[in-house]
Amino acid sequence: MSDNFIEALISDDLKAVKAAPKTDVHSHAMFSTCLENVERWLGQSLTKPPKKMDGLEGMLEYASSVLMPHIRHQQGFEFIVKSAIDDAIQDGVIMLEMSFDIRISDFYSEGLSGLCTYINSLIHRYHSEIDLRPELGFARGCADDERLLNLAENAIESGVFRSIDLYSHQEACRPEDVKPLYVKARAANMKLKAHVGEFTGAEEIRRTVEILELDEVQHGIAAATSKEIMRWLAKNKIQLNVCPTSNVMLGSVEKLACHPIRILYDNGIPVTINTDDLMIFGQSVSEEYRNLYRAGVFSPKALDEIRRASLCKVPQDNLQIGFQRR
Ligand SMILES: [Zn+2]
Repeated sequence: MSDNFIEALISDDLKAVKAAPKTDVHSHAMFSTCLENVERWLGQSLTKPPKKMDGLEGMLEYASSVLMPHIRHQQGFEFIVKSAIDDAIQDGVIMLEMSFDIRISDFYSEGLSGLCTYINSLIHRYHSEIDLRPELGFARGCADDERLLNLAENAIESGVFRSIDLYSHQEACRPEDVKPLYVKARAANMKLKAHVGEFTGAEEIRRTVEILELDEVQHGIAAATSKEIMRWLAKNKIQLNVCPTSNVMLGSVEKLACHPIRILYDNGIPVTINTDDLMIFGQSVSEEYRNLYRAGVFSPKALDEIRRASLCKVPQDNLQIGFQRR
């Protein structure tokens, strides 16, 4: 199996790269399918994202002006998620940790319970093809909104969500501000994650991990600027869920060939390779692996090690999904 993946990368056989089992543990539901699928569904073409955007601000501007007007409702959301799961299955993803922003519950007349019912129906519908693990997504800018904080607490109590993630503007709230939410999520046995160190701030990565007791970090690539923080992350086995194309397009990395994921890997930090927002960044997990090989960042063997390590976190019976598909 591994030899096939390595051989597939060397011979640039994308179909064979896709056939190898993989995971995607950094995917935001709202932008999780290919832009082409949305265009087909809408019956119209949309302005493509620029190759380089001005950080998070530039991305949010593109998303709110071009994408959101077409998809900000239950029907749009449900199309995207189903289409994204199909995309992931086609790409060989056998475990998908997909993040559902708490504000999506506002698309449903029944609110959170409507969203939870829909997510459960997806898990059931796709269970023989993919292990869908819903993640509760919370934007930092919502941390002062009592209604949304209460809704997020209810979402934790629902038992539907397997992990929690915090994202958007790092300066909008301190990790301390959402500590009660994370304590509750931990008590519910959820995996704890947060976006931090996407652009700058190696020390802020350690601070956030310590305060929120994170298991994993979304991005965290700024750690590569500090030997001390890398040593600390490696010692504590904190996994960084990296999205290479996202980092290049949002300008935190100049070009793929100098992506710091190599430095992080060489310093013993567990890393995974993920999509972030397929609708905007346009690269599937298989394509991300291929891109990293083509850009000379990793050898095929190292990429295979990263892929196999990511599968180690998938329960054994779910690994069968990858075999059943062949
Ligand atoms: Zn993200």
